Amino acid sequence: MAEHDAEAFHFPERHDPIPELTDEVDRLWNEGQHRSALDTILRFLRTNGKSATAFEWALPLLRNTRKPDVNITEPITPQQLGNPYFAPIATECSRCVNFWYSAHVLRKDYAGMTIFNPIGQQCPVCRYTLCRTCFTPQDARCPEPGCSGELGVPVLPTGRPRGMPANPHTEKLEHVLILWRDTPTTREEADELLDLACTGQDRGGIIVRSQVSQAGERASYGEEEQLGLVLVGLYERHGTISEGGLRDRTRVVLIDSPGRGRRLVLVTAAPATGTASQLSGPIKYFLSDEPDAEGPDTPSPRRRWFRRKT
Ligand SMILES: [Zn+2]
Ligand SMILES: [Zn+2]
Repeated sequence: MAEHDAEAFHFPERHDPIPELTDEVDRLWNEGQHRSALDTILRFLRTNGKSATAFEWALPLLRNTRKPDVNITEPITPQQLGNPYFAPIATECSRCVNFWYSAHVLRKDYAGMTIFNPIGQQCPVCRYTLCRTCFTPQDARCPEPGCSGELGVPVLPTGRPRGMPANPHTEKLEHVLILWRDTPTTREEADELLDLACTGQDRGGIIVRSQVSQAGERASYGEEEQLGLVLVGLYERHGTISEGGLRDRTRVVLIDSPGRGRRLVLVTAAPATGTASQLSGPIKYFLSDEPDAEGPDTPSPRRRWFRRKT
């Protein structure tokens, strides 16, 4: 693996066709419904994980956006372009956070390929990449220390290591805590936040919990993060998170949720062995806007108040 492609998807030499996916994508594509075609691919990726076939169909759709075309009745959206499920096939500039999608990886005839005014250039040795804005045509030497490569084409996927960090721990999750400030997290939003913070990770049987942040109005991001980590530590002490979760397997993802404010998502990966590594089944939600979330034995203050009144 090259230095700068740790988060990229590496296409295998061969892979099996998936007609139940591609028949529908092909039909939507030919009808100019690119947005729906990509949504179909997204649904597949969400359920089945990374797939060479799905990515192979997604790449040309994702790079087709610059020319307006009357035959495209449904163009793809900026949200789709930035969707974390497509991050493994994106190419990110190593200097700024520009990213784009290049379909060069799907071509077998790299040799002698000439591309005028490419969106970016890449080192074939280490995959150091510069976008068109950051690249200086006078100097094509690879800026990676110790690398003797030269920037050029083809440009292959790098993933989006800075735009969308991947969880370095495991592919399996154990616990997700969402801290909110003004507006409680709904079930629907919790799933969106999971998609953003835990893309491509196995969520079977995990607990997703949301709580109001007790940090003061003026608390900085760092202070709020500390508070969140204290809570993760408490859940570990109570046995909800298995041992070492706080110290070794938790990362914090800050997400600005449109119209709902700042969310701090504390994602705890499962350990490599033990019960939590085998979790499966539906996700258990304990969300602060669901009074029954903690179970019937612990009525929320609102319900007690209601009973007293009647
Ligand atoms: Zn750049
Ligand atoms: Zn290089």
